[in-house]
Amino acid sequence: MIGENLSRVREKINSACARAGRSPREITVVAVSKGRPLDQIEAAIAEGINNIGESKVQEFLPKYNALCTAPHLLRRSGVKWHMVGRLQTNKVKTAVGIFDLIHSLDSQRLALEINRQAAKIGKVQDVLIEIKTSPEEDKSGLRPDEAAEAIMQMAELKNINIQGLMTIAPLVDSSEKTRPYFRMLKELKDKINQLTTRKLTILSMGMTGDFEVAIEEGANMLRLGRAIFEG
Ligand SMILES: *Cc1c(COP(=O)(O)O)cnc(C)c1O
Repeated sequence: MIGENLSRVREKINSACARAGRSPREITVVAVSKGRPLDQIEAAIAEGINNIGESKVQEFLPKYNALCTAPHLLRRSGVKWHMVGRLQTNKVKTAVGIFDLIHSLDSQRLALEINRQAAKIGKVQDVLIEIKTSPEEDKSGLRPDEAAEAIMQMAELKNINIQGLMTIAPLVDSSEKTRPYFRMLKELKDKINQLTTRKLTILSMGMTGDFEVAIEEGANMLRLGRAIFEG
């Protein structure tokens, strides 16, 4: 099932890239495996997925330990682990120990803690800044109008490396309605890149319901759960 799902996803990525005049090689697919058992993650890796995303540190930890120690999974070398969910300060130490890219940095306080924990283990933690492109109450992320200044402050921290921006589009009844939010994120990245010398390159946007629109608007990292794991 996962193999078929991935073929379908790749076809859709190819078509969206063709429409947008982009190369599918620009697009990284992060398979979001929250709530999925270990064998499904293994199956996705066997089908060529090499980026796995999770949204809860505590839920991922046992899966991570199993994936990294099981001998038959030694092909895991080369797999990157992504934290896509909200990160609590008290989980930062564990998260910095296991994740290659944290997509959800959205405050100076969290930046300081990630920087502190990364320094302790001699790591420079790659991060994305989460932007709240739509106004739902319960949504996390920096407001677009405060992002540039906050990012310039966070960029001073030696043990974090800000690679780009992430957003979650609002739940709407048609994917077309997500387009303005993705466009806003792309424009924000371009604006910030005009202000700084260290360039943001990653745009993490697009989920199962809206990834084709996200590609048309410049996404180069998709976070896909249901499209890969549900059939
Ligand atoms: C669950 C989740 C996804 C994947 O969502 P699907 O709609 O299943 O593709 C992407 N990003 C975040 C932050 C998530 O929590």
